[in-house]
Amino acid sequence: MTIEQPLPRALSPSRLQDFQACPRRYQYASIERIPQPASYATAKGRFVHYVFEHLYQLDAPERVIERAREFVTPAIDEILTEQVRLDLEMDDAMLARLLSETEAIIVTYFEMEDPRDVHHEGVELRLNVTIDGAPLLGILDRLDRDVDGDLVIVDYKTGALPNRNFDAKTFANTELYAALCEEKLGERPTKIRLLYVAHGQAVERPVTEVVVRARSTAAATAWGRINEFYQDGAFPATPSINTCRFCAYRDRCRDSGVAVPL
Ligand code: SF4
Repeated sequence: MTIEQPLPRALSPSRLQDFQACPRRYQYASIERIPQPASYATAKGRFVHYVFEHLYQLDAPERVIERAREFVTPAIDEILTEQVRLDLEMDDAMLARLLSETEAIIVTYFEMEDPRDVHHEGVELRLNVTIDGAPLLGILDRLDRDVDGDLVIVDYKTGALPNRNFDAKTFANTELYAALCEEKLGERPTKIRLLYVAHGQAVERPVTEVVVRARSTAAATAWGRINEFYQDGAFPATPSINTCRFCAYRDRCRDSGVAVPL
């Protein structure tokens, strides 16, 4: 069997997570590029990221809450495309809810930190590097330079607070970002800050050499397996209640003969 579509040129942390959860999901999402319908949660996440990205493109003294609010209207045009509105079956009530939750997040965020005091090295920073033969791509929400002169990876989270018993999973993507920073910039960030902007809480973790090495090795191993499955022409499905529950490809997968749990 041969897969007609080409392999993606790079592996991102979120696609790596897809692959590690279920190789078939990676095939559908990254190789066949079958669109996944937008959800309210992903649309809200993109909406809020848009506002913060543009806020941080302003000079530091201008990063005040009134300026942040100015980016909400452009976000409606940019993020809430016709397709997204269709996917969400968005009506006036849903839009009002989104705007109200976004306003609450902006207010909460400004209670967490003062953006005028933030020194960053990049916003929506795109890092493309090859590590151990694996072409990797990460787009960092923000890369800060803290008061001690160290690099800090900052990632905005609009969802629920994480269970701290699963920090390895919570920090998986950002720890791979740290590996990308070290490779690209020649400097390893010392810390990761996940800003749970709907809750006003920052969840932090130091970055260690051991963790960076482990994340790089896991990504390189996965890339090797992706290439093997691609050559074989088949990415195996690994169904389970947890992996399939939120998968956009449940029907397609079931139709292909996989025993997807109900
Ligand atoms: S439905 Fe389950 S088995 Fe099928 S692609 Fe999605 S996660 Fe994999």
